[in-house]
Amino acid sequence: MSFLDVMERTPVREIAAHSGRASAADVERALSKPAGARDLWDFAALLGPSASERIEDLAAASRRLTERRFGRTVHMYAPLYLSNDCLSTCSYCGFARTLPVARQTLPVERAGAEGRLLAEQGFRHLLLLTGEHQKLTGVDFLVEHVRALSQVVPQISLEVQVWSEEQYRALREAGCDGVVIYQETYDRGSYRRFHIAGKKRRYEWRIEGPERAARAGIRRIGIGALLGLHEPWREEAVAVAAHAQHLTKVAWRQELTVSVPRLRPSASGYSPEHPVTDRELVQLICALRLLLPDVGLVLSTREEAELRDRLVPLGITHTSAGSHTEPGGYGEPDAAGRQFEVADGRSVAEVVAAIRAMGYEAVWKDWDRTMSASAAPAPGGNGRPRSGVAPVSRA
Ligand code: SF4
Repeated sequence: MSFLDVMERTPVREIAAHSGRASAADVERALSKPAGARDLWDFAALLGPSASERIEDLAAASRRLTERRFGRTVHMYAPLYLSNDCLSTCSYCGFARTLPVARQTLPVERAGAEGRLLAEQGFRHLLLLTGEHQKLTGVDFLVEHVRALSQVVPQISLEVQVWSEEQYRALREAGCDGVVIYQETYDRGSYRRFHIAGKKRRYEWRIEGPERAARAGIRRIGIGALLGLHEPWREEAVAVAAHAQHLTKVAWRQELTVSVPRLRPSASGYSPEHPVTDRELVQLICALRLLLPDVGLVLSTREEAELRDRLVPLGITHTSAGSHTEPGGYGEPDAAGRQFEVADGRSVAEVVAAIRAMGYEAVWKDWDRTMSASAAPAPGGNGRPRSGVAPVSRA
């Protein structure tokens, strides 16, 4: 059964509405269940106003579970934008086709130079991003760039247009070991409203992308919803949690991560009417951790430095630092249009110092291609060190 079938059968609205009605007793029941025993109804209870009154208890439970499963570690990655050329128009994005922004697609030499700048700062995991341009940044382009950059760092992920299983297999063979696909919004009506033109309008093709990537043998799969598009946001939270639950069953060999990106200002000028508040974001991160004890949770530089530091101990396991969201931005900042404005402008060294000051270890590398040849990831494994096992440090 695919996740589309699961979505048909999951009463997302009803479950999300439960969060508003959940009593103190419902919250207590959800909190007191052992890890792995909570369901989507418990998750919804943990997102509601009654749970908000117990946010300290949520945070403590989430912190305990995260430390038990992941130790005190944070995996570091860097986004590397290869192109902002795009043939789609999404109303929230600074790369939308209709916007008059400076466009740039990096040839492989420029991309290699960007990768080396990031490697010099310590990064061993690069997330390569492009807009959706079928000719300029198709599979051949990506294969060439993945091959070149996998000579620079050992871990390469892609956050680009979605592909067929066969195309994901070609990307894996080139050296890609991670694929990130945000559904943006799981609500079909909102999806149609925000994705105005171009291939990204294909809701079904996108939502089944993570399963195709997993079937092709991509080792790490990332999903997420862009918080601020669909309202109420709790429906989005329930849908992304259901998606993660499904993937932990059908793609049990893969490492799974869930991102919780909030919309940021961009050249699109779009801003949400009712943004998710900081407190709601904290609640969401804790609730995701309590529902999904083995899943990595990702927080990017979309969030302010102070909030990011407070969220690390509560459940965040993967983070970026010193990010640029324009192609070529590490070597030549601002020469091309950005996808969105980052909120945490600290340097990589400053972010790492803050992580260490909290008693956590910044992990630069937790996997090597040579391990893929000899050993499949452990069932439910997420490539992160288990508590008590020393992480592989900077290679
Ligand atoms: S979200 Fe992706 S597809 Fe949509 S405009 Fe931005 S880059 Fe293009």
